[in-house]
Amino acid sequence: MIEIPENITELKSYKPGKPIQEIIADLGLDKTAVLWNNENNFGPSPMALEEVSKVLGNSHVYPDPVSLELRKRIAELNQRQVDEVVVGNGSEEIFNNLFNAFFKPGEELLTCTGTFVAVYIWAKANKVPVHTVPLTSDYRFDPDALYQAITPKTKAIYLANPNNPTGAIIEEDELRSFLDKIPSHIIVVVDEAYFEFARDISPKYPDTSGWDYDNLITLRTFSKAYGIAAIRIGYALAKPALIEALAKVKLTFAPSNLAQAAGNGAIQDEAFLAKTIDNNTQEMEKFCASLDEMGFRHVPSYGNFVMLEMDSADQVQAYFHELLKKGVFVRPLPAFGLPHCLRITIGLPEENQLCVDALKECKVQLS
Ligand code: PMP
Repeated sequence: MIEIPENITELKSYKPGKPIQEIIADLGLDKTAVLWNNENNFGPSPMALEEVSKVLGNSHVYPDPVSLELRKRIAELNQRQVDEVVVGNGSEEIFNNLFNAFFKPGEELLTCTGTFVAVYIWAKANKVPVHTVPLTSDYRFDPDALYQAITPKTKAIYLANPNNPTGAIIEEDELRSFLDKIPSHIIVVVDEAYFEFARDISPKYPDTSGWDYDNLITLRTFSKAYGIAAIRIGYALAKPALIEALAKVKLTFAPSNLAQAAGNGAIQDEAFLAKTIDNNTQEMEKFCASLDEMGFRHVPSYGNFVMLEMDSADQVQAYFHELLKKGVFVRPLPAFGLPHCLRITIGLPEENQLCVDALKECKVQLS
């Protein structure tokens, strides 16, 4: 019998739920709002699709293994050099590659509880222990607690800014003083998957793309504001030595030619980006005002989603099921270690309105 190592047997298999079209058909829903995955409900960037259509005919040849055109564009956008950029099948793949590139046996990842679930999964799959400290009581990453928790085994610290699923940020001053005191042999990964939204919501949000630290890795994605989550493209910015290590461990021909082309198109699609961001900032304000009116507790958010804090996991499940029956798909957060919280993506105005109306009609007691 083949022995599967414990770090793999202990991981939960991904259990796909019912396909969304089946749920819609079973419940006979005529109106829906899919607000459970922080996707861009405007759809994909049209310029991304246009570029994909141009390269489909090249699908018999291998893609550029170093994604040069896209890396040049990303470097230009962020005022960095090409050798300070690596791209991957979503930023999640680059995060997974960090373990191969940098960790020796026994070295640990330090982060907070209550962040993006993939962080714990990929660390475990790569046999890297994760050391966690709690988020602050207002659901933010806690730089002081992280600093105090550093041990000789700490190889890297992961921060999501804004954090998914809480939406909270570490502000510029706080992040700078944190980075200033982290020893230079420890990598700090700042995951800015929701950067484009956060930058529009608050001037206090730190854009680390130009920060000069030898141990800093900034992660970004085209899955959110650019609307191409299915195509899988993300990137990292860091000093050349770190980028070179990440490039060495990536799969030779990742990302695909279609993903590279989509990134090339999306990055030029300023109109689509502006429309997406404007909608999010305006709708976030409106949606949160409605939550306040209805008496829901929520965390100030800098992403394209907002997290509601409820009294119990049971209350969350009750809302989840009631909302589903009304065509509104939202995300309970037990997998994120926050079972008493519910995350709702900011969608198009009519979808957010459907969600507000549904929340009003839910027959669940708010205490
Ligand atoms: N980081 C965070 C904080 C996220 O929320 C997500 C997506 N949910 C990702 C990374 C993954 O992004 P990608 O699609 O680029 O892999």
